[in-house]
Amino acid sequence: MERYDVIVVGAGTAGCVAAMTLASKGFDVCLIDRKDRRAIGDKVCGDAVGKHHFDALGLPYPSGEEKEGDIVGVKIYSPDRESVFRISGYGLTGFMINRHLFGQRLLKYALDAGAVLMDKVHVSAPILKDGSVRGVIASEIRRGEKLEILSDVTIDASGVAAVIRRRLPPEIGIEKEISWEDKVVCYREIRQLSGEIEDPEFCEIYLNLTVAPGGYIWVFPKRNGVVNVGLGVASTPNHPNPKDQLYRYVLSEPLFEGSSLLHGGGGIVPTRRPIDSLVGGGVVVIGDAACQVNPIHGGGIGPSMMGGKISGEVLSEALDSWEPTPKSLWPINVRFMKGYGKKQAGLDVFRIFLQGITDEDLNYGMKYAVITEDDLLKASMGEPIRLNIEEATRRIFLGLGRLRLLRSLYKMARTLREARRLYERYPSSPDEFPRWRMEIRRIFDEAKASFWHESTITRRRA
Ligand SMILES: Cc1cc2nc3c(=O)[nH]c(=O)nc-3n(C[C@H](O)[C@H](O)[C@H](O)COP(=O)(O)OP(=O)(O)OC[C@H]3O[C@@H](n4cnc5c(N)ncnc54)[C@H](O)[C@@H]3O)c2cc1C
Repeated sequence: MERYDVIVVGAGTAGCVAAMTLASKGFDVCLIDRKDRRAIGDKVCGDAVGKHHFDALGLPYPSGEEKEGDIVGVKIYSPDRESVFRISGYGLTGFMINRHLFGQRLLKYALDAGAVLMDKVHVSAPILKDGSVRGVIASEIRRGEKLEILSDVTIDASGVAAVIRRRLPPEIGIEKEISWEDKVVCYREIRQLSGEIEDPEFCEIYLNLTVAPGGYIWVFPKRNGVVNVGLGVASTPNHPNPKDQLYRYVLSEPLFEGSSLLHGGGGIVPTRRPIDSLVGGGVVVIGDAACQVNPIHGGGIGPSMMGGKISGEVLSEALDSWEPTPKSLWPINVRFMKGYGKKQAGLDVFRIFLQGITDEDLNYGMKYAVITEDDLLKASMGEPIRLNIEEATRRIFLGLGRLRLLRSLYKMARTLREARRLYERYPSSPDEFPRWRMEIRRIFDEAKASFWHESTITRRRA
């Protein structure tokens, strides 16, 4: 039976960075993926990544064929398209990438650092002993051979499939299921336009809760008149089919007249705060498997790489000297939750609020600057949202406003601050975790109950 210091399940963006970090420090790392080596990195995606993620990780920027465009900002359209927020700045500057070539670059980093790749191997479950994960059960896709691979620590980086996390026993303390309302189902196409796009360095986001309930429509330009166009909807039980919606409401627009399909495909994005604990005995969960995605725009490439880096660094600092108990793995939680986790939690409150309002509220809020471009820029970086309450109140006194929307906005800003404060107090050891978890669940349960009351989302659930 093979044995490694660390098994990383999934050679996506999270897994490759974790494997690279650990292998470069001399640990024996086995990186497993069900895809063929040449297909690793080829994922249905919006293909947009912020420059700041490369800076944070010390990775060279995309170049050559891997770079398919530069982004200087984002344009956000209200449902009636009367208001357009044009926001730019460091957090929104970035690249359109060739996702496959980018994934291959990260894989090369991991392998050059010394990780061993087992491709075309499907992992089906963790090996458990005395309440800890001790490796994985897998099957070799080429020959159908069953494998048992042992390790001190197993990292679940298998994306939204979360193949290890979903098979953990409750006593490990990691939540197994993510509720449907916290996922967005997407369909996207890469299309060659017949003409030119107006602002090729701006990504476009169209908010429209009727066409894309709980999600949004995006048009992200690549070079030479190619665009990545897609639509996501909250995965409520009777949600509309995102592909039908894209064809009916988006691809019928004049921009796409005469365009041709280069690639089409669907995918799921988890859009909630990170799972409350990323670690248990012998196991760490990162990337989409741990819901480390920006809940507002669904960008998960950067945060998943951050999850990979943090877990790799913490593990390699101490793997020699301790048993991988929940206590010794706990600093992974503390580092992630007090950093990006805190931002994500604030953005999750904002997401729940946005999913609960109507198109009319959005048109109003954007038109009368109840939420400003500057607020959205901050929100996209996960900073606290300041509301233009003074202006909103003035409008209400002028008889134009919506008292319910203003009340909701106040409540959202308060809940957002409360959630961020709780993340600042993330427990420094597992003993205090149950109390913290009860508190954070209360905040989010109350937010959903309050903001989704009679919203599009709850109407669909009925
Ligand atoms: C439609 C869509 C658009 C998106 N747009 C953007 C965007 O523009 N910008 C952005 O930053 N993010 C975007 N995202 C999110 C982003 O793609 C993910 O957050 C990111 O890829 C997460 O990386 P990961 O490593 O956790 O998972 P993944 O990249 O999904 O990698 C998981 C790996 O695990 C492997 N695997 C899964 N199950 C098993 C198994 N049982 N055995 C062995 N291997 C297994 C898979 O083959 C895969 O290689 C988008 C997502 C979708 C679906």
